[in-house]
Amino acid sequence: MQPLPYFQFRDFPAGLEAQVQQALQEAVTGRQYVLGPQVQAFEREFATYLGAGAAVGVGNGYDALVIALRALGVGAGDEVVLPVHTFIATVNAVLQVGAKPVLAEPDKYTYNLTAETAARYITPKTKAILAVHLYGQVCPMEELQGLSQSQNIKLLEDAAQAHGATYKNQLAGSIGDAAAFSFYPTKNLGALGDAGAVVTSDNAVEAFARKYRNYGESQKYTSEQVGINSRLDELQAAVLRVKLQHLEALNTERKRLAHVYLQELQNTGDLILPQTAPHCGHVYHIFNIRTRYRNELQAYLQEQGIGTAIHYPIPMHLQPAYTFLSHRAGDFPIAEKLASTSLSLPLFPGLTEAEQQRVVEKVKAFFGR
Ligand SMILES: *Cc1c(COP(=O)(O)O)cnc(C)c1O
Repeated sequence: MQPLPYFQFRDFPAGLEAQVQQALQEAVTGRQYVLGPQVQAFEREFATYLGAGAAVGVGNGYDALVIALRALGVGAGDEVVLPVHTFIATVNAVLQVGAKPVLAEPDKYTYNLTAETAARYITPKTKAILAVHLYGQVCPMEELQGLSQSQNIKLLEDAAQAHGATYKNQLAGSIGDAAAFSFYPTKNLGALGDAGAVVTSDNAVEAFARKYRNYGESQKYTSEQVGINSRLDELQAAVLRVKLQHLEALNTERKRLAHVYLQELQNTGDLILPQTAPHCGHVYHIFNIRTRYRNELQAYLQEQGIGTAIHYPIPMHLQPAYTFLSHRAGDFPIAEKLASTSLSLPLFPGLTEAEQQRVVEKVKAFFGR
């Protein structure tokens, strides 16, 4: 039997690849390769889709975080509260702008940052809360907005895993003061290489980001501010415009696959399945399951030719690179438990029914042994 990888690019919906190739061809023929019409059109279309004021295309998700932090005025001497259970890019972006990352425990059920936990870490130096919509589920934004407004601090969304995810009829990335998106190829909305965007409804944030990503230029060779080069590539924008038209279909398929797992894996061994909080529309960027026997289950599935992944195996505060944050084992018991029990099952648009049934059968067989 063919091995099933954890993730694979498939032509879903059928014909998407041909549409992408067509769009690339047109962008090549257009002969405007930097900040051209494709970037402008994608920025408009993505902002409209989200119901946000503006999207500013940048080089990748990490840069989107850095630029958004700077645009919100976060810098040296400031503290930023962020969840300890996230991809490493989130904390690196905070360090890049010279601010101090203040790590917070995730919620026990959704694994997301909540206002209740974030509140414990607020000090007079706190400049922003960085809410990561982990695995495709939006954080409880109403409470986080209430907290940030009452404390007069900024609320930034890391929406890199949550394209199309909803919270009370609003889309992830349209709720906070600003948001950062990644279009890394495997994300729910993915380019054919690196790409990202800063999203905001605040004109000043938008204006800063537009200039900052392009050497601070307001027009050619007029630099109003110091800046960097982090532009969304014209060819990637052409790809993203096509994929954006199919984002709802891609997410619907992810949700359908997730519901099959949720149905079929109920009451299996000690498995903890993902929980969706009230008011949240989960888009299952990652389908996370938890078991005390995580390592054994992963090895067993590997023997059966089924690939899995772990998001994330070492909690951030225990990573060798971050010992200077002066944390130790035991500081974040929930995050530490997540690191030792989490396993991500294959879930991607185009996964076949037979493949998914094989995963279900093997997971059940493991616990039935
Ligand atoms: C992917 C990701 C990023 C970084 O995106 P890149 O485009 O790879 O730089 C940031 N935060 C989270 C939560 C992510 O999943």
